[in-house]
Amino acid sequence: MSTLEAVQERNYWAETAAAPRITQRDLPPRVDVAVVGGGYTGLAAARELARRGAQVAVLEAKSIGWGASSRNGGMALTGMKLSASALVKRFGLARAKAMFCLSIEALDYVEQLIRSERIDCEFSRCGHLELAWKPSHMEGLQREAELLQRAFDHPVQLIPREALSTETATEAYHGALLDPRSGGLHPARYAAGLAEAADRAGAMLFAHTRVERIDRASGGFTVHTARGALAADHVFVATNGYTDRIVPSLKRRIVPVGSYIIATAPLPEDIAHAISRHRRMMYDTKHFLYYYRLSSDNRLIFGGRAGFVPEGPDTLRESAAILRRGMVQLYPQLANAKVEYAWGGTLGFTLDFLPHAGRSSEGVHYAMGCGGHGVALLTYLGACMGRMISGEPVNNPLFDLPFPAVPLYDGNPWFLPLAGAYYRLLDWLQ
Ligand SMILES: Cc1cc2nc3c(=O)[nH]c(=O)nc-3n(C[C@H](O)[C@H](O)[C@H](O)COP(=O)(O)OP(=O)(O)OC[C@H]3O[C@@H](n4cnc5c(N)ncnc54)[C@H](O)[C@@H]3O)c2cc1C
Repeated sequence: MSTLEAVQERNYWAETAAAPRITQRDLPPRVDVAVVGGGYTGLAAARELARRGAQVAVLEAKSIGWGASSRNGGMALTGMKLSASALVKRFGLARAKAMFCLSIEALDYVEQLIRSERIDCEFSRCGHLELAWKPSHMEGLQREAELLQRAFDHPVQLIPREALSTETATEAYHGALLDPRSGGLHPARYAAGLAEAADRAGAMLFAHTRVERIDRASGGFTVHTARGALAADHVFVATNGYTDRIVPSLKRRIVPVGSYIIATAPLPEDIAHAISRHRRMMYDTKHFLYYYRLSSDNRLIFGGRAGFVPEGPDTLRESAAILRRGMVQLYPQLANAKVEYAWGGTLGFTLDFLPHAGRSSEGVHYAMGCGGHGVALLTYLGACMGRMISGEPVNNPLFDLPFPAVPLYDGNPWFLPLAGAYYRLLDWLQ
């Protein structure tokens, strides 16, 4: 696929992961908890619930792990979509620190889960680099580094432009912030391993079982699916960027945004080494950011928010072309690199750019909305919600946050092209 007219969706992660081996069953007439969505959030919740003895069914419209959980960059990052300084500005130091700490707990949880369930997903604490696109962005990274070290007790390192070649061979950036605690993994193998772990714990997993309607019933819910109805005491909605109209209040609060990735053919060792000497997770400071990393077989996995709308055949072709140009602009040594894979996925954004977890006005539980920070955080929020639904007290600084509805939004994100233009302008101005 070196010429981009030929772009067809091929997801490198999905093609290099085996489908999870899960127990085949009939849909039961009733369960304690029905989980809607079979990505990290739903699977992590189901595993925790089943380990506590709950009867739990995961209902997934497509194959297990089909959504963003098998399509993402595999970056298990510290922090949230909002920077530490933005969190402090909005919530004050103590609460901001608690939120940041949650992201560290989430990473520790994911690492522990992968180890204890023996999930073969290439997890490593390789660290991440946030790269300054403009000289002024380096000043912002410097303030962020000071805050993280001084007030959050979180050691990070600033890498000035002159020293950046110790990390990556590009002239495009003005320095970087290195956070050594972040990790990387193979997202689709992680999703499959999590599914198998939930299955082993006793959760019942149903692929190709779209939930079509959820009705309140005496003391609980009736969940209508493509394979029949089941009764449930509780419902946990874990559909993030793919949330449809089954829970109207959530649909008005979560905005689906497309993100796209290309993957080159395996690169010669010296070129791969020059691009990422320490095989870190990398992303830059633009709103229309690039994020990239090497795969275990030395492909460059290069992603970005090339368009803001959810994925489709045309957006994929356009996005692959934009990403290829961006990749070669950063690394001219890749001008002749073959692009073998291109795919897209849908993220869940919220109006306040924060993840949200709690109980909706319809009485269902949910966790969603981390933007591009969901690998670790949504696994952990799903797990916390699972524990909470099973009756355990869970102290989580995100649980009682007001979840704002997006004004003039009923589920059709008509404003995304405008938002895209606005953020492009900001990237140009800032
Ligand atoms: C291209 C891309 C790159 C990303 N990169 C990163 C990254 O590097 N690091 C990071 O931390 N985060 C990243 N993210 C975000 C991260 O992938 C998500 O936050 C996370 O995977 C969300 O998991 P989830 O289980 O909540 O949702 P998903 O994995 O999206 O799963 C939701 C599931 O719900 C199902 N569903 C929807 N409606 C119904 C219904 N009615 N009935 C039954 N099932 C239904 C869907 O089929 C879907 O499988 C990225 C996302 C994308 C798209």
